[in-house]
Amino acid sequence: MSLPLADKIALVTGASRGIGYALAVALAEAGAHVVAVARTQGGLEELDDAIQAKGGSATLVPLDLRDTEGLVRLVQALDERYGRLDVMVANAGRLGPVSPLTHVETQDFEHTMQVNVTVNLHLIRAMDALLRRSAAGRAVFLSSGAAHKATAYRGPYAISKAALEIMARTYAAETVTTPVKVNLVNPGPTRTKMRATLMPGEDPETLPTPDEVAKAIVPLCLPSFTETGRLFDVRQGRLLTYHLPD
Ligand code: NAP
Repeated sequence: MSLPLADKIALVTGASRGIGYALAVALAEAGAHVVAVARTQGGLEELDDAIQAKGGSATLVPLDLRDTEGLVRLVQALDERYGRLDVMVANAGRLGPVSPLTHVETQDFEHTMQVNVTVNLHLIRAMDALLRRSAAGRAVFLSSGAAHKATAYRGPYAISKAALEIMARTYAAETVTTPVKVNLVNPGPTRTKMRATLMPGEDPETLPTPDEVAKAIVPLCLPSFTETGRLFDVRQGRLLTYHLPD
């Protein structure tokens, strides 16, 4: 039986650890060739070993996603090599300052907005033409429950994820007449470095692993998933709230 993503090209940002790493492995297991982006070379090399051990393949792209020229070079390379992109998982994220808004340094706020919002705008701009050339282009953006709350001391992260959600939904509306499907995921609290930084006192054993979360997200990347502009809540295991405007 052929794998659901056989011969597909899947880009995963933030693939050096955590949910992005697990998603990259899961997409490779589903048959995709994974293009894995992050800054940490060591994490990417570990990922490559893990994917190869499962019989899959990956291209490693050590890149700070804020480097817009690097992103342009990446899209050119993808265009030349494959001429299309089948799956784009925009997973890279930054927690940012966990402090009252009155204490947030502008530079720290802007860094968080850059990684969680601006980088994803650049990704959309860079990858849109390639996604449209796929028979079933799928874009998935990692959001957070924080986007829907206003929890004290988590302002910059929540603000950035709320902006990301509107951006992804706008992109869904702008691609609605194409084969490209654009969706958001709230993974829920997951056993990663980001979560441990936010909640140092929490027992990580009480949280789902990135592998468990990744398995729930993979179906949104498949050609068979034809919803667009929706938010998938992993914990609740269902699609929520968002619908495209009339
Ligand atoms: P994580 O363990 O901190 O991993 C974040 C990933 O993003 C790393 O691979 C990191 O790679 C990459 N990254 C950050 N800045 C980057 C940059 N400038 N350029 C390239 N890559 C960059 O986080 P996670 O918990 O796996 O989170 C993954 C996504 O899920 C994030 O969008 C997060 O907001 C969301 N989320 C997580 C949870 C949770 O409980 N864990 C809950 C809700 C939502 P390098 O450092 O190697 O560059």
